[in-house]
Amino acid sequence: MVTVMVISCPHALGLAIPLVSAISTAVSAQNGLLIRNRTAFENARKITTLVFDKTGTLTTGEFGVSRFKSVREGMEDKEMLRLAAALEANSEHPIAEGIMDKVKELGLETPSADNFNAITGKGVEATVEGQQVKVVSPRYLNDEGINIPEAAENDGGETIVFVLLDDKLAGFIAMADQIRPESAEAIQTLHKNGIKTMMLTGDNKAVAASVSRELGLDDFFAEVLPDQKLDKVKTLQEKGEYVAMTGDGINDAPALAQADVGIAVGSGTDVAAETADIILVNSNPRDISKLILFGKVLTAKWCRT
Ligand code: ADP
Ligand code: MG
Repeated sequence: MVTVMVISCPHALGLAIPLVSAISTAVSAQNGLLIRNRTAFENARKITTLVFDKTGTLTTGEFGVSRFKSVREGMEDKEMLRLAAALEANSEHPIAEGIMDKVKELGLETPSADNFNAITGKGVEATVEGQQVKVVSPRYLNDEGINIPEAAENDGGETIVFVLLDDKLAGFIAMADQIRPESAEAIQTLHKNGIKTMMLTGDNKAVAASVSRELGLDDFFAEVLPDQKLDKVKTLQEKGEYVAMTGDGINDAPALAQADVGIAVGSGTDVAAETADIILVNSNPRDISKLILFGKVLTAKWCRT
């Protein structure tokens, strides 16, 4: 540091730039932003569209099971839940945590699962007590041509997953998640700064529409798989948008990498954090608007220097 100061003393650039750089990083950290890639941070001022993941990003990702029901004759609701739990015990998805909490609350014993596999963006599968068990999204049922039972139709507030035994529908589990209290404010600040907002989620359309309406987002796409999240970001970029993506999951990683500025939620998965340029340490979406305002202030400082 001393060497740099002595050598660069007559030269404003040698001193001013490292100082602005060091101070802005420190100020960002105090404001909940961990900068992994400075260039992306400095480019935050150029953002024209902010793409959000839903679960765990705009919402807390803390699911509570609201109802669960077996649709198989002779199978009790709890038995269906017990089989699902065998799979979810191996998953780090927020849905899995919600289901495991319910299982603990009911004091159910969780059987062990073999050949566990996470079907990214769709659900999980494994062998339990000799049966092939899957816990999957409504989209998976549609793709496989399985009808959704009437009792599992939802009014928009619920995330519903389905339990399949040997590829036949055995029941469903309905859960509710909550919008982070700071999300609405974040969206408002972005709009005030002329930035468009969009949500990409693997969850069903009804939930996505309800969250989007409540937060006043400009657009949303539901039931998208990880590579489709990436494609959406690419399409926006091709239209000339400067895109930032915010997400928390493994399913968001490809889109985080593609975006001009990738922002990971601190409470999310390690894969998302590793891929992103910036991490929201406090998992607070409001810090994103600070990021953009900082970017603008920083540019003003650079110009003055
Ligand atoms: P999001 O984009 O909202 O973060 P994901 O892409 O992670 O959602 O998941 C998409 C859908 O896949 C979920 O809404 C759920 O239906 C299903 N899914 C993913 N992981 C699991 C799991 N561990 N158990 C049950 N369903 C899952
Ligand atoms: Mg997510």
